[in-house]
Amino acid sequence: PVLGTDDSRTYRLGIMGGTFDPIHNGHLVAAEQAFDDLGLDLVVFMPAGRPAFKQDRNVSSGEDRYAMTLLATADNPHFVASRFEVDREGVTYTADTLRLLRSLYPENVEFYFITGADAITEIVKWRDAADIARLAHLVAATRPGYDLDRAWDAIDASGLAFDVTYLSVPALAISSSHLRERVKAGQSLRYLTPDPVTGYLHKHGLYGMSTNRYGHTS
Ligand code: ATP
Ligand code: MG
Repeated sequence: PVLGTDDSRTYRLGIMGGTFDPIHNGHLVAAEQAFDDLGLDLVVFMPAGRPAFKQDRNVSSGEDRYAMTLLATADNPHFVASRFEVDREGVTYTADTLRLLRSLYPENVEFYFITGADAITEIVKWRDAADIARLAHLVAATRPGYDLDRAWDAIDASGLAFDVTYLSVPALAISSSHLRERVKAGQSLRYLTPDPVTGYLHKHGLYGMSTNRYGHTS
């Protein structure tokens, strides 16, 4: 699945960035809703190479996180998994990724960077935030009833013209940290992430799992 090449129309490319350690149904449902509600043409899932903000803990290898992302997105015709960031050396900054993508895609392709609304207060402070604002629309997934004041205040304070669309996503309480804890405790991941992802992380012994005699915890 790739974008078309019709110059007479605009294409909307969704970019779902994250550590994806592991990818879960919260990421997937947010991307699916962004695809539908914003009329995106494709959503690219890009596991971060060396995440800028997660240098404090042992992040799984880019190869493992990419493989799980590929497994999770394989059955959805408008999702693709990309090696773009995992194949880059060093810490990955979103502004660098967006500048590179901008140089690769023609002008009629618009970028929609999908993120959690909580992350907006951080993104406005990310390296080269002005470039992020210039190069992409933001799609911010929020919990139903989430108070957006902090996100708005952060954007105001930044003085940058971020274009943000807020999407209410009920599954937002799911997190990779929670899934890692469940794996470690030998608890089931069923319905929290696609089964092929669970199979992969068990097979490769990620997250300090203790296996039962089936090699699975559920
Ligand atoms: P961790 O618990 O390790 O921080 P995470 O679940 O937040 O992991 P990330 O890979 O850090 O996952 O997140 C990637 C992107 O997805 C971020 O923009 C984050 O805000 C967003 N996100 C995370 N969880 C959800 C969710 N349940 N629903 C929608 N978006 C989410
Ligand atoms: Mg997170």
